[in-house]
Amino acid sequence: MSGAENHFTAEVAVIGGGPAGLVSAIALAAGGVDTLLIAPPPPDDHRTTALLAGSVTALATLGAWEACRPHAAPLKTIRIVDATKRLIRAPEVTFAAAEIGLEAFGYNIENRHLIAALHVRAAELKLTHITAAAAAVVSDADGVTVALPDGQARARLAVGADGARSLCRAAAGIGTHRRSYPQTALTLNLAHDRPHHDTSTEFHTESGPFTLVPLPGQRSSLVWVLDPASAVEFGAKSDTELSVEVERRAHSLLGKMNVEPGRGVFPLAIETADAFARGRIALVGEAAHVVPPIGAQGLNLGLRDAATLAELIADARRQNLDPGAPGLLARYDAQRRADTLSRRIAVDLLNRSLLTDFIPAQGVRCLSLYLADRIGPLRRALMREGVTPAASQPRLMRGEMV
Ligand SMILES: Cc1cc2nc3c(=O)[nH]c(=O)nc-3n(C[C@H](O)[C@H](O)[C@H](O)COP(=O)(O)OP(=O)(O)OC[C@H]3O[C@@H](n4cnc5c(N)ncnc54)[C@H](O)[C@@H]3O)c2cc1C
Repeated sequence: MSGAENHFTAEVAVIGGGPAGLVSAIALAAGGVDTLLIAPPPPDDHRTTALLAGSVTALATLGAWEACRPHAAPLKTIRIVDATKRLIRAPEVTFAAAEIGLEAFGYNIENRHLIAALHVRAAELKLTHITAAAAAVVSDADGVTVALPDGQARARLAVGADGARSLCRAAAGIGTHRRSYPQTALTLNLAHDRPHHDTSTEFHTESGPFTLVPLPGQRSSLVWVLDPASAVEFGAKSDTELSVEVERRAHSLLGKMNVEPGRGVFPLAIETADAFARGRIALVGEAAHVVPPIGAQGLNLGLRDAATLAELIADARRQNLDPGAPGLLARYDAQRRADTLSRRIAVDLLNRSLLTDFIPAQGVRCLSLYLADRIGPLRRALMREGVTPAASQPRLMRGEMV
């Protein structure tokens, strides 16, 4: 930071203080990059995030995992139950992390604890945090100017981590491909009578998955994908009524349930930016891609964006190169494309195979699950690809600093 009168300068300005922005800022600062974080306080978020093993390794490498660990529950087993009433139904399939030599596929944590841990780590590092929203972002040949409510910031590169309705993306002139689904996710956390045994259970229904994910103790989070009218109907029920309904849908697997205050309603869509970077602005997290909450992919992709970009910028800094140079941004775009595309296709196909009444598509979904159940090497390959995608293993995800 330099100068008074609220004029800030840095090599890189990260815009947005959701998890993707905070991890970007921490990774850059830890990599020795002069970093500015422009982020108003985050909105209330009662959701949880299943962080897969690579993301947990990255957070540990950045020194942020220790504060998360007491609030996180391991995901040792994932069970998929076909709860559709259709003619063709898949067998129940169980994936165990131990089968691929892992203690857990990952950990589930409430977003508020994750964000709090990231704030603590950010405060320990040498980075400047401006607790305000960017009002405008304008790039030119040499850098980017960010208008703030009472001043401005100048950097050589802006990292747009400002979520699905990204100002940075619009400023870079980057369009998106978006499709809405006829589905809404109702989210809540709950306490239950029986232990979850570190097992996440995903009931596949005709309206989408109903997924219980362990939290520490006898608590779990629920992501319940419904048609929009039912989401409104269930969302309006009292805690007691909803607890009974959720227990019924969960086939009393975890016994009596008590829904906690703090529900969320999220209309589902899939959206990908046409480019991951342009004109000294690089996008990470939901500014670059939104995927439906199926298979815990969204933020895990976002953290791989953050790790990849920080690695490229730290490498450039070591060679005294411009962090906003077109070549660097083109490499970032190329490195994130395959990973994002493969996750997007997998999540979209799975979701649409649940929604469709087209028998052959249901047949393919059931056959895939049947084969995964029966063929050990296939099941293990699927698990490995789910946890450590072949298309993207940035250094942080391998336990190395950027
Ligand atoms: C129901 C549900 C369940 C999910 N579960 C999982 C899961 O289990 N695992 C997983 O990996 N992913 C999951 N996801 C996806 C995950 O929640 C998102 O990928 C993640 O929250 C995106 O983080 P982000 O930092 O990119 O964006 P956000 O969290 O949206 O953060 C963007 C931030 O930018 C700020 N901002 C906006 N405009 C400006 C501005 N002009 N200036 C400065 N700041 C600005 C906002 O205030 C906000 O804090 C789930 C999503 C949903 C909807």
